[in-house]
This record gives sequence, structure tokens and C-alpha cells, in this order.
Amino acid sequence: MEKFTLFCANLALLLVFSASFLALAGKFGRQQPFWRTWSLANVLLALSLGFFSIEAHLPPFAVFLLPNALLLLGFGLHWNAARQFAGHGADHSRLWLPVVALAAVAVPALLNGSYSTVYIATNLLVMVLAGITALTYAGKDLGGLISRYGMVFAFVLMAAEGAIRAAHGLALNGIMGVGLIDDIVLTTHLLVSLVFVALAGAFGVGISFERIARQQQEIAIRDPLTGIYNRREFDRRLELMLAARSDTTFGVLQFDLDHFKKVNDRYGHIAGDDALIAVAALIRDNIRDSDCIARLGGEEFGVLLPDVGRDGAIAIAERIRSLVETLPLDFASDGYRLTVSAGLYHGTGAQLTCRSLMQAVDRSLYRSKNNGRNQISFAEAA
Ligand code: GH3
Ligand code: MG
Ligand code: MG
Repeated sequence: MEKFTLFCANLALLLVFSASFLALAGKFGRQQPFWRTWSLANVLLALSLGFFSIEAHLPPFAVFLLPNALLLLGFGLHWNAARQFAGHGADHSRLWLPVVALAAVAVPALLNGSYSTVYIATNLLVMVLAGITALTYAGKDLGGLISRYGMVFAFVLMAAEGAIRAAHGLALNGIMGVGLIDDIVLTTHLLVSLVFVALAGAFGVGISFERIARQQQEIAIRDPLTGIYNRREFDRRLELMLAARSDTTFGVLQFDLDHFKKVNDRYGHIAGDDALIAVAALIRDNIRDSDCIARLGGEEFGVLLPDVGRDGAIAIAERIRSLVETLPLDFASDGYRLTVSAGLYHGTGAQLTCRSLMQAVDRSLYRSKNNGRNQISFAEAA
């Protein structure tokens, strides 16, 4: 492909992505400042390539300094965007450092007519900026996001490209004139650059929406008041346990706070909310990592105890019951204490559906209530 076509393809792709990022910045900008930074980075890279493509018409000094400075600012912004994406915050004040470093090397080099020095310095700086951007996307803050590997690949490619071009500059030492040499090396660089722009743009959109999807998924399975799982996630996990049809026994607990209406009536609904938060945290902190606690609704909590023996399940239920009984409530200066009643199923779940199992647990919970509350009853699952 000829040089002009490749310049145009790079410019078009950079500007298309820049416009899309700007549109997304309008929608998500407040929480996601990286859209604006990505957009600006693409504009600067497009300007840089634009100047490179018309370098024959620029004065010699401008040929090197203008597009190279824009290139470094563009990659500096890419690094800042990566930092913003990873939650470290951008540091725009450091954007000028690579440009100042370039100027410090380039001005004396250009005065001596050593054009390859400017070429080498620019590409080494691109290599460093792309390298630290790749490292930022590879960092553990973004662990779990698969699209980050696309970003890492894009910036490693650019860092490698910078290193190769710097080596190329070394090879051309003394014979390089003003402007890029129009040969197969240049077209290869422009092709690589095109791949980089496509990768960074596509995976940039990908990684952002992947993270939004993760956050939405997390919101969908959590109870907003207490932060523990909600009924949807509880049901899903219970279904999975039943579907496993294994011989391993498990436990299912349903807790209901006793006379909770009294708490609201006596101390107000905000205090009632605080009590629910405190009970949820207490249970969460006193079960195994493999167990699952959920708010089933109102003042009712469910606990799934996978792979547990009968005595173990009873011990966990009893521990929670007695801990709630002694839980201090900040808002109750009169020393009011909560209690819970519970129903407990233990078994392999054979011949039970989610519905029939929870019905049995619910019946046993009502037995606990009718027998005087603050106790646990075993579910008779037929
Ligand atoms: P019992 O021992 O029979 O369970 O009595 P109870 O008062 O706990 O039962 P009841 O079902 O009559 O009342 C439940 C109360 O839980 C009433 C409701 O206002 C309160 N409640 C449910 N959800 C919330 C909540 O999110 N915040 C607060 N503050 N109260 C809640
Ligand atoms: Mg209730
Ligand atoms: Mg209740």
C-alpha cells in the first residue's frame, strides 16, 4: 500500500474513534474522565500524522519538532488515560516532560544537522510512554477485565515499534536527512500504527463497557441497604446446589428478626435500617467464605451452607442466633437487644425443588416463632 493511503487510513480511524470517545465522554464523562483523554490523545496523534504526511511542505525545523512533539503529547495522554482508567488519576502536569526532553536533545542535534538523533530520541520516548501505558493496563487494579489484554497488546506493539524505529535511527546515523524516508520501512510502520489505532480504539471501548457490565452485574445481585446478596442471587445459588444432585449434604437457613416492627416504632426507620445493616454484617463475618448470606426481603435473611454436616449446620445457626442476641445497637441507649428465629434445612436436597425446600424451611421458621421466638427449628422436608 502506498504511504498516502496509509496516512489517510490512520487519520480516518483516529478521528472516528476520537469522535466516538467524545460522544461517550458526554454521556459518562463525570465518572469516566478517560473518554475525554482518549479522545484528545487521538486528536493529537492524528495531528502528528497529519504533519508527518505533509512534512515536505514544512520548514526543516518544524518537520521534526512539531509532529514529534504532538506524537509524544498523544502518547502521554494515552498514559494519563490509562491511569484514569485504573483509578490513579491523571497527571497532566507531567505531559510536557517528554516534549521538554525531546527539545533538549533535538535543538542542539538539529543545529548540528544530526537528524537521526531526533528520530532516535522521539522513538525512545514513545517506547517508554507506550511501555508504561501497557504496564498500567497490565496492573492488578484492572485484574479480571479480559479486554485489558487487548490494550496491553496494543501498547506493547507500539513500544516494540518505538524500539525498532530507534534502532533503525541508529543504523541511519549520519545518512538521515530531513523528513521520513519513503520506503518499505515507512509503510510497515504505518501499517503497524494502523493496527495499533484499531486495537487501542476497539479494546478501549471494550474494556470500558466490560467494566460497566461487571458493575451492573454486581449491582444486580446485591441488596442495596446491607450490601449482602439479594434474593435473586440466593435463589440462583440454591438452584445450582440442587441441580448438582450430589450426595454431599448442605444446609439452608432462613432467619427472621423477632418483633422487628417494634424497633421501627420505638427508634424510627433509620435506626431499623441500621439494625438490618448490623445484623447482615454480623452474619457475614461469622460464616465460612464458601457460605452465602442474602437478604431475602424485609427483615429476613437466608444463608446457604454448602458441604456441611448436620452438627456443623446447627453450630453455625446457633452461633448466629446467640451473636444477634448480644449484638449492641448504637441507637438503643436503653440497651434493647434483637433476637432472631430461624428455620434450618439439612440434607442432600434429593427430591426437592427450590420452592419445596424453602416452603419447608419457612414452615420450620414459623414453628420457631410460635414456640416463643429466639430459636432454631429443623425443617421437615418430605
Ligand atoms: P415477628 O417476630 O413475627 O417476625 O414480628 P415482626 O415485627 O418482625 O414482623 P412483621 O412482619 O410484623 O414486621 C416486619 C417489620 O420489618 C415491618 C417492616 O416495617 C420492617 N421492615 C422491613 N423491611 C425494612 C427495612 O428495609 N427497613 C426498616 N427499617 N424496616 C423494615
Ligand atoms: Mg418477616
Ligand atoms: Mg420479623
